[in-house]
Amino acid sequence: MTDQQDHDGTRCVRAGLPEPAPGEPFLPGPVFAAPYHLDPWQGPSAAANGYGRPDNPTRRLLEAAIGELEGGDCRVFASGQAAITGLLLAVLRPGDAVVLPSDGYFPVRAFATDTLAGIGVRVVFAPTVGPYPSFEGVRLVLLETPANPGLDVVDVAALAARAHAAGALVAVDNTTATPLGQRPLDLGADLVVASGTKALTGHSDLLLGYVASRSAAVLDLVTAWRTTTGAVPGAFDAWLAHRSLATLDLRLARQSTNAEAVAALLAGRSDVDGLRWPGLPDDPAYPVASVQMRRMPGVLSFDLGGADRVGRFLVAARLVAAATSFGGLHTTADRRAQWGDDTAPGFVRLSCGIEDPADLVADIAAALDAAGPAGPSVDR
Ligand SMILES: *Cc1c(COP(=O)(O)O)cnc(C)c1O
Repeated sequence: MTDQQDHDGTRCVRAGLPEPAPGEPFLPGPVFAAPYHLDPWQGPSAAANGYGRPDNPTRRLLEAAIGELEGGDCRVFASGQAAITGLLLAVLRPGDAVVLPSDGYFPVRAFATDTLAGIGVRVVFAPTVGPYPSFEGVRLVLLETPANPGLDVVDVAALAARAHAAGALVAVDNTTATPLGQRPLDLGADLVVASGTKALTGHSDLLLGYVASRSAAVLDLVTAWRTTTGAVPGAFDAWLAHRSLATLDLRLARQSTNAEAVAALLAGRSDVDGLRWPGLPDDPAYPVASVQMRRMPGVLSFDLGGADRVGRFLVAARLVAAATSFGGLHTTADRRAQWGDDTAPGFVRLSCGIEDPADLVADIAAALDAAGPAGPSVDR
């Protein structure tokens, strides 16, 4: 267990671990079970574990860990999408209204316009920086800050106060920041949703999502939803995720240092447009981010002017892998438009890994030089 007085590194390394017991491991190994033995007389009421869909001890330890970091109770899901769509479907009923970020994670927006609107939920989109509509009659406001991939931020406390005055619930997608980067429940949000696939677990080897809250009533709805739909992570993924949490503070620290160094490089180059990183003092997100966030993310975004130049940059870079997702150990870059979202053709989301900052900056500078100016390459 963690002590709330402890600093981030200490909290990460201890989060969700059972009390020490001689002969027992620090983090118990994954428990693989569909059914468990039942008490022949009392059945499932006699023990914590009856069947794997609702009950798994490895999953409960991970939930204790993430809950400690977020400052609430937690339910983990098979992916971020399973957690977010699960919350939306558990809470919203036909005739309800929901406000979602117009610049947020694209598959959530697609789900809202296809599935939620299709069952009679009124879907309202607002840009992360606002303006926001009136929240009168709104059941749930989902914020995403920093928003993926544009990296705008919103003042969670101010928005939560407005939404609560109108009787709406507020959820914050905390994927990019992680609970070490910001604590939405402390800022007044009712719920946190997130993908644990990204920086939270950070090794590019599993999918995970979660919902966290201090409201037992809302969490009961989410738990019932998860049990009946079955969107649970497997025991091995839950164990790997818990194992990865111990290094979250170290990984984020290096990613943030690398992002700062890369942002300084890119800000000084005339061949890079639209640079966004919330930690840059002249970034539009800086005034809110520098107060609301406890640390800056390892993710930045910019525009290289066209798909061809992004391709040349990726071929030339030794330390930047072409890959989607973000928050992993290895630096990756994703040209978002190739996935069909609504960004410009040369828009890149760059996720800094934990490489040495000097090596990374040198490699990115050399790759930009090698990529040449925007436009199709002549010798291809
Ligand atoms: C990746 C992501 C999700 C979805 O998570 P998965 O684990 O891929 O299902 C949701 N929100 C944000 C902000 C994301 O970046």
